[in-house]
Amino acid sequence: MAVILSGNELSQRLTGEQTERVKALKAQWIYPGLAVVLVGEDPASQIYVRNKGIACEAIGIHSQTIRLPEDADQAQLEDTIQRLNEDKKISGILVQLPLPKGLDEDAALAKILPEKDVDGFHLINAGKLFTGQETVIPCTPKGILYMLKEAGIPLEGKEAVIVGRSNIVGKPAAMLLLGENCTVTLCHSRTRNLAEHTRRADILVAAIGKPRFITADMVKPGAAVMDVGINRVDGKVVGDVDYEPVSKVAGYITPVPGGIGKMTISMLMENTLEAACRQGR
Ligand code: NDP
Repeated sequence: MAVILSGNELSQRLTGEQTERVKALKAQWIYPGLAVVLVGEDPASQIYVRNKGIACEAIGIHSQTIRLPEDADQAQLEDTIQRLNEDKKISGILVQLPLPKGLDEDAALAKILPEKDVDGFHLINAGKLFTGQETVIPCTPKGILYMLKEAGIPLEGKEAVIVGRSNIVGKPAAMLLLGENCTVTLCHSRTRNLAEHTRRADILVAAIGKPRFITADMVKPGAAVMDVGINRVDGKVVGDVDYEPVSKVAGYITPVPGGIGKMTISMLMENTLEAACRQGR
């Protein structure tokens, strides 16, 4: 049976550490603050945004949610971002994705000051990650790497296979694992013979958005299986990995819920504290 990599436990420990760091920062007159911009009424986004607010409160930092209506236009969105760029109480800005149809996501993200970009989606920060420079790491891939390292899973020279090539998970995860000297394969919907790739993986990252897509026969015995997926099936949240059968084959596995989702929020707090330190306020 696979070792369960618990995001709940790890994030709880991180909350304790971050709370202490916030106290120390405040003693140096550094007051971290996070602003989340939420456009529209998407139910999943509402939950994510609420959880981000709760996480800020837990570690003792200021948070603010700016809600714009579903029919907000690009100018309204960009004006909001501009105002937050100038707000000294705000160290980090996050625009909750996806945005409603008609809004230009890339243009909105480009408006965020790179030093306040706590998601690491700004082109400057993404470019730095791509070229191996120190930068803001997107929260989900950062959480994946954190979990792997905490579990002491060796990375150098290992085969890492990532299924899903989104800009927010798959691609940055590939860059991070490459930075750890893994041999990286990035798979997507046009990949032929997907299972042939996944069966080679010592580290398998599933970021697809399809419930229980990765089945036991696609997993190498002993592999570390990192399940990013969040899918709602019959009112239940399930991952992209067929958890029970895969956990009989894998060496390590992350549960859903209570796995990478939890780490993503912890890493957002981490990025917000780092942003506050960079800005010195
Ligand atoms: P996207 O929809 O942006 O990307 C999905 C990727 O999966 C695409 O690259 C797509 O390929 C690939 N894909 C789709 N179908 C197949 C298939 N049959 N075979 C192989 N590859 C396939 O999703 P995200 O990266 O934004 O999110 C992925 C999942 O992770 C979702 O469930 C999302 O809710 C969840 N998520 C969880 C987070 C967390 O904190 N735990 C954070 C962010 C996301 P192609 O490019 O060819 O279309």
